[in-house]
Amino acid sequence: MKFYEKTWFLWLSLIFFAPVGIFLMWKQQRFAKVPRVILAVLFVFVFLVEVAVATSETPPPTTPAAQTSQQKGELQAPETPAEEPQGQAQAEKPLSAQATSAKGDASAPAVAPVAAEPTNSPVASGTLKVHFIDVGQADSILIQSGETAVLVDAGNNGDGNLVVNYLKAQGVTKLAAAIATHPHEDHIGGMDDVLNAFAVDKFYMPNATHTSQTFEDMINAANASGAKKIQVKAGLVMDVPGITGTFLAPVSSSYDDLNNHSAVLKITHGSTSFLLTGDAENISENEMLRNGNLQSTLLKVGHHRSDSSTTAAFLKAVSPKFAVISVGQENTYGHPTDAVLSRLVNAGVQVYRTDQAGTIIATSDGTTITMDKVASEVKANAPPANNTSAPATTTPKPSPAPEPAPTPARKPEPTPVPAESQAQHYVINTSSKKFHYPTCRSLPTKNRGDRDTTRDELINAGYSPCKICNP
Ligand SMILES: [Zn+2]
Ligand SMILES: [Zn+2]
Repeated sequence: MKFYEKTWFLWLSLIFFAPVGIFLMWKQQRFAKVPRVILAVLFVFVFLVEVAVATSETPPPTTPAAQTSQQKGELQAPETPAEEPQGQAQAEKPLSAQATSAKGDASAPAVAPVAAEPTNSPVASGTLKVHFIDVGQADSILIQSGETAVLVDAGNNGDGNLVVNYLKAQGVTKLAAAIATHPHEDHIGGMDDVLNAFAVDKFYMPNATHTSQTFEDMINAANASGAKKIQVKAGLVMDVPGITGTFLAPVSSSYDDLNNHSAVLKITHGSTSFLLTGDAENISENEMLRNGNLQSTLLKVGHHRSDSSTTAAFLKAVSPKFAVISVGQENTYGHPTDAVLSRLVNAGVQVYRTDQAGTIIATSDGTTITMDKVASEVKANAPPANNTSAPATTTPKPSPAPEPAPTPARKPEPTPVPAESQAQHYVINTSSKKFHYPTCRSLPTKNRGDRDTTRDELINAGYSPCKICNP
């Protein structure tokens, strides 16, 4: 007797693959005709249910296959970065609603959601999104996880509407926290507009003030908003649901330079982390170095990559995989210093610049950070190329200010002689104690330093002007 003629095989095939079982029943003339037909109908039904269950099962998002493909896709722009969260949100909402109503039927009535409270569109479950909004020579960073949204800085005065509209386009209706890193206009300029436009739970700022109208506007808006005001100090944990953030600076209570007052926020999501440094300069960086805990997957480069920030020691401690530089194309501050860029590129960091890529979105799934743009084409020790060939993405870009046509990285024309009290970019030779315009033809290759400072300050520090470029 063959195995397929045995009764146990018949039952197994009926249960797990009815067509075979039914075929065998007829072939072997099992049972009387009526029970045979009844059994056949019954197991056809069982078979259909099995097929339905097998095809409706979707693989969980964290299968090894999904992860591998995500890691592979890391360096490429995701196909639909902006659409993804909404799609997920729609897919998830009915599910959770069903779960709630099912529970509610069976047992105690479900807790009714507070209807009046506005809610943000949630980002894809388990992900953290960090948007480096293109606000030119300024900072504005939106962090989203679940339904929680946090804003770090709000660009220049003229960027208020742009930032507000960008947030609205992301489905943000309220902010769990707004953080003003320090009172410079390029960080808090649009904050009053943000505080007026959204419900803000908590308003974080360091203990630093400014006499400017911009600062006053922000404080008035913060008072009117009803947000809880919290003073930032190193070690403070950001208290918002669903986002893990700790402030690493300011460490001291006072500094000569407002930039060093910058609130520095480290966000961790799974094994990935983001270090948002405001305009913190070397003094603050050195304090943070002493406190440790700097290692981060992504570094928002301090002070728009001015040479006064991102020291070699700091960069080594952070050892980021990605760096984002929020910088404008028109650069009146002389900030695109090759020194910082060289340090980043030499350290093998993938550099992303808002002046080249526009708004940049970094998405973490807890293990991997995916950038929605390609890294800038920069070579070590070379001036930055103007990479205008960033790939097209579906990122909604909020009507940016008209951008000037890209210009060659280094203009050969003579630099106008600046007023002596006006800060600008100089290249110094720390050994010969000479200082130069960055366009000088005899720039030092060794002992080179880059300074954003005034002529007087350099002379006071013991430097003398180069005889060739006469700075
Ligand atoms: Zn600043
Ligand atoms: Zn700044």
